[in-house]
Amino acid sequence: MTERIIPIADTRYSAPLPFVPASLPAPTGRLTDVRGRQLHDLRISVTDRCNFRCTYCMPKQVFDKGYQFLPHASLLSFEEITRLTRLFVAHGVEKIRLTGGEPLLRKDLEKLVAQLAALRTRIGSPLDLTLTTNGSILARKARALREAGLRRVTVSLDALDDPVFRAMNDVDFPVSDVLNGIEAADREGLAPLKINMVVKRGVNDHEIVEMARRFRGTGHIVRFIEFMDVGASNGWRMDDVVPSAEVVRRISERFALEPIDPNYEGEVAERWRYADGSGEIGVISSVTQPFCGSCTRARLSTEGKLYTCLFATGGHDLRSLLRGGYADEQISAAIGHLWSGRGDRYSEIRSSDTAALRKIEMSYIGG
Ligand code: SAM
Repeated sequence: MTERIIPIADTRYSAPLPFVPASLPAPTGRLTDVRGRQLHDLRISVTDRCNFRCTYCMPKQVFDKGYQFLPHASLLSFEEITRLTRLFVAHGVEKIRLTGGEPLLRKDLEKLVAQLAALRTRIGSPLDLTLTTNGSILARKARALREAGLRRVTVSLDALDDPVFRAMNDVDFPVSDVLNGIEAADREGLAPLKINMVVKRGVNDHEIVEMARRFRGTGHIVRFIEFMDVGASNGWRMDDVVPSAEVVRRISERFALEPIDPNYEGEVAERWRYADGSGEIGVISSVTQPFCGSCTRARLSTEGKLYTCLFATGGHDLRSLLRGGYADEQISAAIGHLWSGRGDRYSEIRSSDTAALRKIEMSYIGG
């Protein structure tokens, strides 16, 4: 019997055409939402595909052979991404993060990096341009990315212990290749490197102190992330979350830590430094200490939908404006209108009921 595949790619994330105001106000560079949060960051997903099947993000049971990823024609082209980014920058965006899926799987990504690196903020500074990767092919790509103008990189690494790492990525990928990628990025000066570890109780929480120990004194910043109820496929349960307070306690039992001020208002990670001066760590506590009140991030999906929250159930179809012949002024006004009406605060209202909502998958919206 032949397997029946139900094509869902084109309808599952259907989104309305954004409202284009009749008057077209010029961007002021200070765009605030209904809760006074100013647009500052744009996360751009460049592919919904990934070569890992991390059990908490793209579980194999869902993202299997029959799963239909977006067809190439659906993806925003580099020119379309750059055009939209320019409009966001005029509205005050200063920080860009490329993500996915696995962004380094997008062919010729360095060409996009070069286009984005050429943009300037309203006061003429380069953008803070960075990328989040699983590190699997970073060793091969680090130089080209740096030469194209990438400034920094964040590498996801959930364990140093090879069997634990292979089990978490669920494709038997060895940790040594990711460590080589981290070294290559460091050599290329894509620093300070951030290393993200999603902590799941009973799976990798025994690796917390070892991760801290390994990267102390290297200049890299390990950030411990609470396991979140993103998407609708990762079987999230509160019992699996290791609260950041526990992470800090466990590390400080081995290495004395002291809190430090955020680098800027709205910074997601809470910062701690080693009392002996050997560097810092961060904790990201979206579950136990929601930071919606200072969230300044917009997200652009692989096919050009704008999401105003990581936990959104719907987005706004900017691609239809791009491909529908709308002028920059019209698209800019639509973006302004969308952000001005933003009221999202999912993490503040999270409950077992909201966890079951059909939220957009993180691999699609971008982490
Ligand atoms: N493939 C790239 C990578 O591995 O970094 C970029 C995309 S990935 C979705 C971005 C980040 O989201 C990774 O650090 C990943 O560990 C994190 N992430 C994915 N699912 C998560 C979850 N349920 N809770 C917390 N973090 C999660």
